[in-house]
Amino acid sequence: MLQTVDVGELSIGAYLQVVPEEIMAPLLEVAGRLRGARVLHLSATPYGGGVSELLRSAVPLYNDLGVHATWKIITGLPPFFAVTKKMHNALQGATTPVTAEDRALYERTAERNAAQLRADPEFAGFDYVFVHDPQPTAVRSYVDGSRARWVWRCHIDTSQPDLATWHYLRRFLEPYDATVFTTAQFVPPDLPPGRVEIIPPAIDPLSPKNMSLDDRTAHAVLNWIGIEPRRPLITQVSRFDPWKDPLGVIDAYRLVRKEVPDLQLALVGSMALDDPEAWEVYRTIADAARDDPAVHLFTNLTGVGNVEVNAFQRMSAVMVQKSLREGFGLVVCEALWKGTPVVAGRAGGIPLQIADGVGGVLVDSVAGCAEAITGLLTDRPRAAALAAAGHERVRRHFLLPRLLLDELTLLDALAQ
Ligand code: UDP
Repeated sequence: MLQTVDVGELSIGAYLQVVPEEIMAPLLEVAGRLRGARVLHLSATPYGGGVSELLRSAVPLYNDLGVHATWKIITGLPPFFAVTKKMHNALQGATTPVTAEDRALYERTAERNAAQLRADPEFAGFDYVFVHDPQPTAVRSYVDGSRARWVWRCHIDTSQPDLATWHYLRRFLEPYDATVFTTAQFVPPDLPPGRVEIIPPAIDPLSPKNMSLDDRTAHAVLNWIGIEPRRPLITQVSRFDPWKDPLGVIDAYRLVRKEVPDLQLALVGSMALDDPEAWEVYRTIADAARDDPAVHLFTNLTGVGNVEVNAFQRMSAVMVQKSLREGFGLVVCEALWKGTPVVAGRAGGIPLQIADGVGGVLVDSVAGCAEAITGLLTDRPRAAALAAAGHERVRRHFLLPRLLLDELTLLDALAQ
């Protein structure tokens, strides 16, 4: 059976305190029109990475808004996830196209998941299905006669895909009623006809990762895992993935340390169920950092979870997100929301979050990254002003109710 993910309960009322009225009022209105509708979100992993982060809060909020939402996970063996990671990389521009054997495995797994979905007693009741990212995309092609509206939600940077891989995936998008991308630049060439929406992701300001945490508690949390609270700290939080350029972060840190000798670097990474590359990348980083006790490597498997990430994003003098390709990079919003400036790669959805003079500094190289970090570490008033402007940008544009408003508006339009 497809796994249904258990989520908690949230109340939309709690967000009235935080989110601008011009978002909350239309959200409640559109939710009223959709009251009683049933929505399925289908994705590949219940933890690790941005999609699970989003759904864990979005699904309970849909429910509180009166739209019944369920989150299910497709199942697949490790070789399937090796293929989908390869597809993910190729769609972000890597030149490792999928082979005929990969395709056969991808299609067999989709067909098996589709059969399970059809056999699921809940399935006939869904009015809408959101399918997240390439892993579950082909399921739609094996579900004939569905009365639901199907939406493909792409979270990755598909602006310059490997064309062979894109053309392969494209055929599975044909039966969808709509596709959703984070920015207009991500819409790939010759997308099948159908509605296209641009909806950037958002963060949940009230989740354990983003809720307010006083400085004493945050210090204690980091101290407990070996960070020295009195020494300056820079951190990158991301899956262990080459696109996030963790080795580039270590190189930049080494340059900054020449100016700021007591600097500490933390690399915090999670191991997602659908990301078989992570261990390999982890070992490479561990090798690169071996001789330097001021470089700390943490994972969700060693107990660094949401509250620890929250503390890192609050207590670091600068957060780094040196991505080379990036779908959106929720971590950027997460840091800005906590009033911490960010030095980040000029990639994918990151410039939506950090603009000139807002939030931090966009960089294109290791040297540029080091220079920007040093600048912010040594000019604290400038760092604070950037972060304050970043916080306000997140409040206006990147909090979860705005995402729900956009998604429900799309569903409402598809019902017409
Ligand atoms: N994350 C986490 N622990 C980690 C690494 C990442 O909780 O060790 C979270 C991070 O806080 C963010 C999400 O995973 O909420 C990553 O989302 P993002 O959009 O930045 O990148 P993606 O993984 O989707 O490429």
